[in-house]
Amino acid sequence: MSKTSFALFDTLKQGLADIDRNGLRRRRRIADSACAAHMTVDGREIIGFASNDYLGLAAHETLREALAEGAQKYGAGSGGSHLLGGHSRAHAKLEDDLAAFSGGFVDQARALYFSTGYMANLATLTTLGAVGPSGGRSTLMFCDALNHASLIDGARLSRAEIRIYPHAHVEALDAMLDASVNEGGTKIIVTDSVFSMDGDIAPLARLLEVAERYGAWLVVDDAHGFGVLGPQGRGALAEAALHSPHLVYVGTLGKAAGVSGAFVIAHETVIEWFVQRARSYIFTTASPPAVAHAVSASLKIIGGQEGDLRRAHLATLIDSTRAILQRTRWLPVDSHTAVQPLIIGGNEETLTLAAALDEYRMWVPAIRPPTVPVGTSRLRISLSAAHSHDDLAKLDDALQTLSNRP
Ligand SMILES: *Cc1c(COP(=O)(O)O)cnc(C)c1O
Repeated sequence: MSKTSFALFDTLKQGLADIDRNGLRRRRRIADSACAAHMTVDGREIIGFASNDYLGLAAHETLREALAEGAQKYGAGSGGSHLLGGHSRAHAKLEDDLAAFSGGFVDQARALYFSTGYMANLATLTTLGAVGPSGGRSTLMFCDALNHASLIDGARLSRAEIRIYPHAHVEALDAMLDASVNEGGTKIIVTDSVFSMDGDIAPLARLLEVAERYGAWLVVDDAHGFGVLGPQGRGALAEAALHSPHLVYVGTLGKAAGVSGAFVIAHETVIEWFVQRARSYIFTTASPPAVAHAVSASLKIIGGQEGDLRRAHLATLIDSTRAILQRTRWLPVDSHTAVQPLIIGGNEETLTLAAALDEYRMWVPAIRPPTVPVGTSRLRISLSAAHSHDDLAKLDDALQTLSNRP
């Protein structure tokens, strides 16, 4: 290495040392088995409270078979981007299935399938406001302060002017829109439905009322709600019984749906615009058709009787966990979803607690800045319909023992 390249590495080493000093080093664990309540991680049997597999479908036999069937029919890879040869019958069918399942919030609903939720959010925010001569530079984007990183990145990449409103604060948002009635072009309100690190649900009906009053779009990222919330798991908009052409819905398929990918549903005009313009849709290889085939099978489970049973079981787990967390000396967040955070505070303390739970063979991730604000580091207990009440009894024992330690 030359002298100058050593200097480059020194900068990175200093950066990594800073990460260590602040208790922010992240380490990946290696799963040796399928995602499930009981799994083998780094060679040890553990109870997993880390996944977003809320309905316990990731290892479901029907989905394994559907994935294999899809691979037999369509092969391993798609071979190209959606606009250049990679769009298969499996993708097209899935889009129809998704629009029929979760598109009740808008007339002439159409769905667009993406490889990941991250890419769907980049597409939605960069594309929605980018109309007219200034290419989106006059667009105003109003974003909840706790939005997911992919929404933040999408907003930044859009070149719109970003205005952040305090978390779930509809009055503040209303005032900001009121102050901007004579400014800008397209207006877009952007929010998570279920906030990923807090588990609370955005006031969607009131946000939509504001969006309609000011002629703004309302983009709702339902990554943690799709499959879990609403009748048959149709999602947060169905749960709130909303209906409006202002709504643009993003759902992901790697969480409750147990597979991979994501989708946007909106009025067909919006979706056609995305097909023409969304760079993270156009300039990437279509995901394997077999994956889309497996997601269609997942939708059948989610929307059927088995889905209802799984959601009902999950609801009892959520209630039990709320009671368990209340009994500790730490601060639970008032969440009625499968995301059950326990705020510890400091990074080191949170890491120590996560390590202690690991001794009990429980995997509960420590969430630290920048994912959450400084001083609110937390354990994020993520529940799945694959968990049993016996699993929760073990978590309860461990947490109460640790909580009573001086
Ligand atoms: C997980 C998540 C995403 C990203 O979805 P992927 O399919 O994992 O890329 C987007 N938004 C929210 C709120 C999420 O939790």
